[in-house]
Amino acid sequence: MTEEKAVTVFRDYLRIKTVHPVPAYDEVVEFLKNLAQEVGIQCSTVEVHPGRMVVVMTIPGSDPSLPSIMLNSHTDVVPVFEDQWICDPFEAKKMENGDIYARGTQDMKSVGIQYIEAIRKLKKENKANFLRTVHITWIPDEEIGGKLGMAKFVQHEEFKKLNVGFALDEGLANPTEAFTVFNGERTVWWVRVKCPGKPGHGSRFIEDNAAEKVRRVINSFLSFRDEQEKKLKTKGCLRLGDVTTVNLTNLKGGVDGSLNVVPSEMFLGFDIRISPTEKLEDFEAMMKNWMKEAGEDVTYEFLQYNPMQGMTSTDQSSPWWSTFSSVFEKLNFKIEIEIFPAATDIRYLREIGIPALGFSPMNKTPILLHDHNEFLNEKVFLKGVDVYCELIPALANVPRK
Ligand code: ZN
Repeated sequence: MTEEKAVTVFRDYLRIKTVHPVPAYDEVVEFLKNLAQEVGIQCSTVEVHPGRMVVVMTIPGSDPSLPSIMLNSHTDVVPVFEDQWICDPFEAKKMENGDIYARGTQDMKSVGIQYIEAIRKLKKENKANFLRTVHITWIPDEEIGGKLGMAKFVQHEEFKKLNVGFALDEGLANPTEAFTVFNGERTVWWVRVKCPGKPGHGSRFIEDNAAEKVRRVINSFLSFRDEQEKKLKTKGCLRLGDVTTVNLTNLKGGVDGSLNVVPSEMFLGFDIRISPTEKLEDFEAMMKNWMKEAGEDVTYEFLQYNPMQGMTSTDQSSPWWSTFSSVFEKLNFKIEIEIFPAATDIRYLREIGIPALGFSPMNKTPILLHDHNEFLNEKVFLKGVDVYCELIPALANVPRK
């Protein structure tokens, strides 16, 4: 049976080992340059850091003065445990039912190829003439936090020249008929708490010791965690992204092998994911209060701090949202709005004020990102191309305000 061109391109892309810790970035840049040439669209590269290249494909609009549409994806993928897979994770094996198995099928090599294959299709039908310029961007290093990828790119002169007005980036699969769209993300904070105290001999009742403070700090954080967990479990309408998670992920202190020494300081590390429904300043005020209650001189520092909570409007008054949602109405596809439970490169766009939605067109698909045996069915993949064939022209033709 002959295979659709889009599927072949997708599988070729999956075979490029852009897997951490040493992704084949040179190879992927070559692949993308060739692909752009084949489809007949402009392509340029921006070296945002030595060895870190962003590929930008451009379809110029009829009014280049209007803010453009950015269709973003990252080219890197997370490592695999090969022995846990039913086939080679970089072979892009297609099963009889059309399921394609490979690392990156869901996260997010599918989306990048869907953008460009939609453009190929629209060009063929002579429908790729848009009002606004469209940029398809391919970013390295998303999976390791984007510090040398998107974070650098958004500060680059070449990015500013793109004049981005609205962006699409990754979402998650949805096991039901519906598609999920993400209008916000939780904010990640990593907090290290220092609890100093009076040292002494392990045989005595030492007042104001570090462990007592550690206990109070843990109690405060984990009681809050209990409340949030309860809220999530009892209110049926809430998703993980609607509540704040707190996890004690690190615990240090004491002298190894000398368990009779009460130490003069102990440290705690927390991974905190703050829901956009919670105000950051309120959360920090609460945290400061917990430190005060824990005892004298308990302090904290941020190992990771994000000051922003970007939410993209899903109000009909937003032309981007009304256009986005009207496409799904037209196609008669159901969409569910959610807050992304983790962090992606989209935060760098929202932080500089660019409205952006996280969307990967994968319905009827289990969520398998970063998991063993990640797969996507070719029919679902191709339906995604069709979704973009509607979505891209609609967004690129949003008139001037
Ligand atoms: Zn991703």
